[in-house]
Amino acid sequence: MTSFPEAARVELANVQQRANLRNATDTIRAKRAKVIEELPDWEELREAGKAIKTDVLAHLDEYLLQFEAAVEAAGGRVHWARDAAEANAVVAGVARAHGVDEVVKVKSLTTDEIGLNAALAEAGIHALETDFAELILQLDGDWSSHILVPAIHRNRTEIRDLFARTIAPGITSDDPRDLAEAARVYLRERFLTARVGVSGANFGIAETGTVCVVESEGNGRMCTTLPPVLVTVMGIEKLLPRFSDLGVFLQLLPRSATGERMNPYTSLWTGATAGDGPQEFHVVLLDNGRTRVLQDEVGRQALHCIRCSACLNVCPVYSRTGGHAYGSVYPGPIGAILVPQLIGIENAASLPFASSLCGACYEVCPVKIDIPTVLLHLRAKAVEAKAPAAERAAMGSLGWVFRGPRRFATAQWIGRIAQRPFLRGNAIRRLPGPLGKWTRTRDLKPVAAESFRSWWRRERP
Ligand code: SF4
Repeated sequence: MTSFPEAARVELANVQQRANLRNATDTIRAKRAKVIEELPDWEELREAGKAIKTDVLAHLDEYLLQFEAAVEAAGGRVHWARDAAEANAVVAGVARAHGVDEVVKVKSLTTDEIGLNAALAEAGIHALETDFAELILQLDGDWSSHILVPAIHRNRTEIRDLFARTIAPGITSDDPRDLAEAARVYLRERFLTARVGVSGANFGIAETGTVCVVESEGNGRMCTTLPPVLVTVMGIEKLLPRFSDLGVFLQLLPRSATGERMNPYTSLWTGATAGDGPQEFHVVLLDNGRTRVLQDEVGRQALHCIRCSACLNVCPVYSRTGGHAYGSVYPGPIGAILVPQLIGIENAASLPFASSLCGACYEVCPVKIDIPTVLLHLRAKAVEAKAPAAERAAMGSLGWVFRGPRRFATAQWIGRIAQRPFLRGNAIRRLPGPLGKWTRTRDLKPVAAESFRSWWRRERP
């Protein structure tokens, strides 16, 4: 994985992307603020969401078994997948058993996380993305940069040109309605002939075995109702205990995500029902690192996430670098705390540092994930895992100096003398050797000519 600072340097040079990001995140932020203001009990809803998710994680083993029993009692089939390979094998196996070479897919971060499309392609099966933005990315071999608006970095002229090269030869208009119509015409036939659909899940209800998908375009409804066979890939943390819990989350999610009171399409299904929708239903319960996250008492709250993307839209780092800099399907503040835990801190050590710790993400999170605290927790782990012996020794010595007032005063005195050759005006602009990394992108304030303690002694003898 390319480190965040390296990737961010490249992304920051993309002026078009920065303009698109600013427009999109500003618009969604304003819409969200407006609909949240309407609810006098918004804070209580957030508390309720947090409490439900905390309960789910505390009793996940029981809720998972309850969900499995309910799905199977309703005529569905449950598969357990420890990792991406196992989950992909289940989906490929179902598609192969039905002799298809194409499946239609609803936008799903979980299937992106496990690289399902590539795994199916290896098995000779094409996974057709049916979400408008995902289709754009698939046609261009690009990948998502925002949880909810995956093609946020593309503009409509680019999309018009792409469609003209691929699914709509001859299209000249870049009017959003014409672009949507071109995609609709292309997809409609595929929906009607598809024999296997693949979806993710926003929520799974342990009590009833019901699966819930919320979306805006109606393609999800098509994928989950038209094909006779449906496979849903669901992270094990997506459970809610009771059907009535949806009452909390269906208020929190659309308002936080798109700034709507209710999203246009909410699909709910329970197992397979004769004569109505898919006649064969499979659900793959995916771990892929989640039980490891669960073991961390501080970090586990990342599993509360309902993928609303509100934290991305307020993040000063995300809104400038965009999603690709995070190198994962989970960008922004949630990516910075979830990815290092899912794939191991040693494999994504720079991500917890991709934050100014301003706390805006915590303030907007509908399930009150304390992202800044988790970031600090992961930073400590990253330092433990990666810091070279010299850095650890330096930090140890600093700690020793800071613990004693006399030692601290002596260090200040030494610092005042040592900094003289590097002082330019009232700042140190360049430090030598490895310390130069600090001054490469910022100035350093010099040690003050007089410390507060000595001023205090002089002024209040
Ligand atoms: S961390 Fe919170 S704000 Fe961010 S995507 Fe998840 S639920 Fe939404």
